[in-house]
Amino acid sequence: MDLGIKGKRALVCASSKGLGLGCAEALAEAGVDLVMNARTDGPLQEAAEAIRKRYNVDVVAVAADITTEDGRAKVLEAAGQVDILVNNAGGPPPGLWSDWERDDFIAALDANMLTPIALIKALVPSMMDRGWGRVVNITSQSVKAPIPVLGLSNAARAGLTGYVAGTSRQIAPSGVTMNNILPGIHATDRAASLDAGVSKQQGITVDDARAAREATIPARRYGTREEFGATCAFLCSQHAGFIVGQNILLDGGGVNATL
Ligand code: NAP
Repeated sequence: MDLGIKGKRALVCASSKGLGLGCAEALAEAGVDLVMNARTDGPLQEAAEAIRKRYNVDVVAVAADITTEDGRAKVLEAAGQVDILVNNAGGPPPGLWSDWERDDFIAALDANMLTPIALIKALVPSMMDRGWGRVVNITSQSVKAPIPVLGLSNAARAGLTGYVAGTSRQIAPSGVTMNNILPGIHATDRAASLDAGVSKQQGITVDDARAAREATIPARRYGTREEFGATCAFLCSQHAGFIVGQNILLDGGGVNATL
């Protein structure tokens, strides 16, 4: 399917690995020029070069912490005007509900709520002026079904989801759509490190830890970054112009709910 976005320009935050990289690759396959970002320069440059070679699109790679004001300023300066914004960053650490203090919440809100909001505020007005734009926020299945040890994530991402629900309806008349993708368990470094933690804690192998988690998913496997990226690229396509303010769950059926 031709996604109809060849020649558009996208900022994909936190995209040297994992789900962000999947989104960058799928957009590049559709002919979209990219601004990619991550904190660590080496893997970011490698990912950018691989995409340039494979898809023959223009890629600017900016090493910066997107959750800081300075990092965002650096990325925004390099990005200039973009048509597509994919918001992403690392997730907050796990823990116990009673242990988190104000500073822990502020850090989680900064990373997973206020950072995407700042980027939306910086980039959406010019999309509206030009009458076309796409915003996709990577959140989590925890928005629909809270993960007890990820209370900081449950809280910050729910806050972003409320903001997106209201804002998406206000920007839609200008041809700009905004939606969220909610990942369940995907085979990325983050999933591998969670499996390693369970393996250590329970004295089982990493493979057994993964098999136990896969058994909890109706699809009986982890999602892939390619599947995730393809969904993101579709939401950014010409065909998705009537999808506004939605929360698309990609979880292999993991959340057991009728709606
Ligand atoms: P990942 O494989 O660990 O990749 C994270 C990517 O983001 C890397 O490129 C990393 O590069 C970059 N990054 C992290 N923090 C950053 C920051 N502050 N500024 C700029 N770049 C940053 O993670 P993932 O699995 O793709 O997860 C992406 C998001 O989805 C996370 O918020 C995660 O909590 C959420 N999520 C993931 C899953 C899953 O199963 N994978 C499920 C639900 C939700 P550097 O480290 O070099 O910065």
